[in-house]
Amino acid sequence: MRQLKFVRRHPWIYLRYTLLGVLIVWLFFGLQLIFVLKDFQPRFVVVPSLLGFCIGVLLATVVALREEVKQRNQLFRAVADFAQEFTYFRRKDGSYEYVSPACEQLTGHEAVLFYLQPNFMDQLIHPDDRELWKSHVHRMNTDGQPEVLQIRILNSQGEVRWLSHLCSEVRDERGKSIGVRSTNLDVTGQVLYEQQLRRLADYDPLTDLPNRRMMIQTIEALAREGEDSQPFAVLFLDLDHFKHLNDTHGHTFGDELLVALAARMREYRTGEIMVSRFGGDEFVIVVPSIGSAVDAAQSAREILKQLERPFAIRDQRFFITGSIGIALCPYDSNQPEELIRNADVAMYRAKLDGRATIGFYSRDLVQNAAEFLDIETRLRDALDKEALVLHYQPRIRLSDGAMVGVEALARWNNGGEWISPARFIPVAEESGLIDRLTEQLLHQAATQSLRWPNLRISFNLSGRQIKRRDLCDWIHGIVSQVGASPELFELEVTEGILMNARQDAAAHLASFKQLGYRVAMDDFGTGFSSLSYLRDLPFDVIKLDGSFVRGMHDNAKDGAVVRAVATLCRESGMDLVAEGIETEQQLATVRALGVTEGQGYLLAKPATADSLDELLRQGKLRLSATLPDMPV
Ligand code: C2E
Ligand code: CA
Ligand code: CA
Repeated sequence: MRQLKFVRRHPWIYLRYTLLGVLIVWLFFGLQLIFVLKDFQPRFVVVPSLLGFCIGVLLATVVALREEVKQRNQLFRAVADFAQEFTYFRRKDGSYEYVSPACEQLTGHEAVLFYLQPNFMDQLIHPDDRELWKSHVHRMNTDGQPEVLQIRILNSQGEVRWLSHLCSEVRDERGKSIGVRSTNLDVTGQVLYEQQLRRLADYDPLTDLPNRRMMIQTIEALAREGEDSQPFAVLFLDLDHFKHLNDTHGHTFGDELLVALAARMREYRTGEIMVSRFGGDEFVIVVPSIGSAVDAAQSAREILKQLERPFAIRDQRFFITGSIGIALCPYDSNQPEELIRNADVAMYRAKLDGRATIGFYSRDLVQNAAEFLDIETRLRDALDKEALVLHYQPRIRLSDGAMVGVEALARWNNGGEWISPARFIPVAEESGLIDRLTEQLLHQAATQSLRWPNLRISFNLSGRQIKRRDLCDWIHGIVSQVGASPELFELEVTEGILMNARQDAAAHLASFKQLGYRVAMDDFGTGFSSLSYLRDLPFDVIKLDGSFVRGMHDNAKDGAVVRAVATLCRESGMDLVAEGIETEQQLATVRALGVTEGQGYLLAKPATADSLDELLRQGKLRLSATLPDMPV
């Protein structure tokens, strides 16, 4: 350690320099003394001695002062050099008078670079903070007040470091500014930690989208803008069947899908649209400044469109759909929580309407959400009591009017009130009750088929089931358990199901066919109607959706579709069933087009097994009354 004892050394300096002064003066005058010895007078000794003493004291004072300054400097450096803060003193002209060695640790640059280049510090400031730095330097120059600043620099490696920068002006005794002194502390770790904490408070760690808290704050801020502000929409997006996806593929897979979805949302997000994750598979989106409800609907549709492109996860292409509920501020509420709740309710309505769709909030929707929960509770109860039954709707061969099969349709009589499957099947799918429902109904159908050896039973599979790995074993297990023959079963799947799990579907359909089942594509024309499904998947039957049959005489396009599908099926060897035949005219047309089978209220309505039994017992297997022109 350096020795610092300049105060104690002063007497020696004085003694040394006084003696030196006396000696010099005596040396100078000593020679003259030789000549004046004979005439010696005491003043010859006293005057030079006094003179020497004075010169010595003067010299000693100058030297002592210089020594003191030097040692003070050393003391300052010893302290400043030791400090962990990077300290500097910069003169007014930008040159550095002192730069502490800590600069190297913090900036990666040696102190010498600062000495060589005036205002070197300016070059290190992060480009995004240069404006802030400039205004700070400017303020320092005008008001001279000390200022603390948190600022980023780029070190010699190009890495970002955060500095807590304190600086103040230095003035001389006359009050004239001579430069600035500054200390800089590396606070990178602390700043990053704080940023992370703030991010955790405001962002969802999985998807990095704003979280619930931040979204509520945003909506609050938008709503606070008051009456002058434009209306805005709150969209509640919920993915369809996400729970099932998690159950079958695992949660990590579900997480990966959510991350991919978030990335797509971020890509899509235009202008001021803000997307947040509310938890699970729920996203809340704010569309600010909408002109009307139509704008909100358009944004919602665009978001659903974003979901249409498949997601690539672990080398698998995956389709998802979502339902969106919309609440408008200020019409539906101006309270954030309430707006979100209303959008959520509207989303439930969208789901009830058949998924992959949007719904607006209105007060009666609250009723619908409650109804969804109510149906779920009652359905659970009905399954416990095995209260669901099947009705069977005959399928008629159009060439001769023979009843060749029946479609099994779920029926639920809830205390005297018939609830439509269109209402309870989506609830069963969403709540996970669909497997139990299928098991009970397929068991009924299989048992029934033992009594109808000449009828083929069509059974509807739900989207949930196609994703079950054990689908074939499961279904075949139920059918064979009662000793029913697979040849008497046709399994119907909808296009929507295929979109989501085409590869799974292909494998399942092939296995079903191997076991002897027939497979049918249901509701053809309502989804994507991709011809590649027909090419790639081994369907025996296409069921053309009833809407085309109903529309074919009023709408030229519907008519064209029916004709085109009829030709396609005829030429590719697939059977075609026209669904929803309600009039003689429709029946005549589909027959003329060579459609294989027909199904509809005109031919026969869904009926209980007993009623059909009765019909079969009476031998009314041919509905020739309605087919007068056909040769039997
Ligand atoms: P879907 O598979 O398209 O079944 C045909 C629907 O059309 C049935 O409605 C049937 O009653 C109705 N229908 C038949 N002929 C006519 C007609 O001439 N005009 C009109 N307007 N409708 C006709 P339902 O029974 O209400 O079933 C609705 C949907 O619920 C079914 O549509 C099917 O997707 C689903 N579903 C029914 N039962 C089951 C089931 O056991 N399991 C599953 N997963 N879904 C089922
Ligand atoms: Ca069907
Ligand atoms: Ca159908």
